[in-house]
Amino acid sequence: MEMDAEVGIIGVGTMGSMAAWQLAKRGVSVLGFEQYGLGNDRTAAGGESRLFRTAYMEGSEYVPLLQNAKELWRGLEKESGNSLLTLNGGLMIAEEDSPVIRNILKSISDFNLSHEILKEDKARTRYPQFTFYDNDLIIFDKEAGFIRPELAVVSASLLAKKYGAEIKRFTKVEHVSSENGGVSIITDDGKTYKVGKLLISTGAWTSKLISEWKEKLIPRRLLLTWFAPKDPVHTKPDKFPIFARMRGDFRLTGAPTLEGTMVKASYTKDPLAIEDPEKLNRDVYPKELEKISESVEALLPVLFPDPVRASAYMDAYTPDDHALLGELPNWDNVFVASGFSGHGFKLSPVIGKIIAELMIDGKTESNINHLDPGRMLRKVE
Ligand SMILES: Cc1cc2nc3c(=O)[nH]c(=O)nc-3n(C[C@H](O)[C@H](O)[C@H](O)COP(=O)(O)OP(=O)(O)OC[C@H]3O[C@@H](n4cnc5c(N)ncnc54)[C@H](O)[C@@H]3O)c2cc1C
Repeated sequence: MEMDAEVGIIGVGTMGSMAAWQLAKRGVSVLGFEQYGLGNDRTAAGGESRLFRTAYMEGSEYVPLLQNAKELWRGLEKESGNSLLTLNGGLMIAEEDSPVIRNILKSISDFNLSHEILKEDKARTRYPQFTFYDNDLIIFDKEAGFIRPELAVVSASLLAKKYGAEIKRFTKVEHVSSENGGVSIITDDGKTYKVGKLLISTGAWTSKLISEWKEKLIPRRLLLTWFAPKDPVHTKPDKFPIFARMRGDFRLTGAPTLEGTMVKASYTKDPLAIEDPEKLNRDVYPKELEKISESVEALLPVLFPDPVRASAYMDAYTPDDHALLGELPNWDNVFVASGFSGHGFKLSPVIGKIIAELMIDGKTESNINHLDPGRMLRKVE
């Protein structure tokens, strides 16, 4: 059949934009479809900052990917001329015998990562912003910081276009089928496109496009909340690292003030599964803010504990919180990159590079065994 492009990408959000950049840069013809505008705040890239960490609580198998991602972030900054990743360090604080601390320490020792373990008195003097408790272990990850997510998506998309990719914005894909050595795509304006290979990078909307994957790619609603500092001198990036602060039922993650008035501190434990991603409720109710206010009051005394801003976002979660990345078993020419389970942004440039390798070279040197889609997805008839 006659092709409109060698590669089609459904969903030019976080992963789709990075894949488009990497594929087009390698000379592949790319046709992307995005239901909203590029860098839209409704996607998983909304909310002005994303945390970058290298000493990884989700497992040390991610460390080589994160190190490669850091190099690629620098490459994307250079090619686009935009500042995207600021490494101002990260504080990881949790009870000494907790699983997250065990995983962080394992990442550090497996890869000899640059870090400091701070004694409580030193931590108190250096970081008066936080409350520390006797049995806390305080780890400073030197290879941590924050990313500008919307600008990152726009930067990668514009570079993809510069290298020849075509991106159809405000165009929703309604149906895909694999046939005659290619893949056919039908959009909401009734048009049909044919591509040689297809990437499905539709994030939280994936189960809407392919309903059979409903149990494997679950859309979850995550709240982001911002707080006013009592004195902004303590909360600028040079004084205030990014943080993940776990204690008992509290799980706070956050970033310093980026525009001078608000600190992002969000409660990220057990985000709520939602039935229909197209009906995400973006209103945030006072009842939902009780836990985060309580956590901020207890753990971040430099902030006024009533949020000044709160917004709702979504990401796709898998049952084991590891993404699905690669070619789909028994479905010709179709690849997936979805289910990044609330921690994929920092990895996105390396995910884009790996997708390009898998689609063009048929293999990658990166270890992505833990992300193999074959562990969960079966053929869609
Ligand atoms: C609130 C929040 C905080 C987070 N914090 C961090 C963090 O600090 N650090 C970190 O590393 N990660 C973090 N994450 C996770 C990270 O942001 C996500 O894992 C990542 O952005 C997911 O990228 P994606 O490409 O899968 O989804 P998206 O970026 O949402 O992209 C999917 C795209 O597909 C489009 N689309 C969907 N269906 C269709 C269709 N049928 N046709 C056309 N287009 C379609 C959507 O509009 C969207 O643009 C956070 C996530 C959230 C929600």
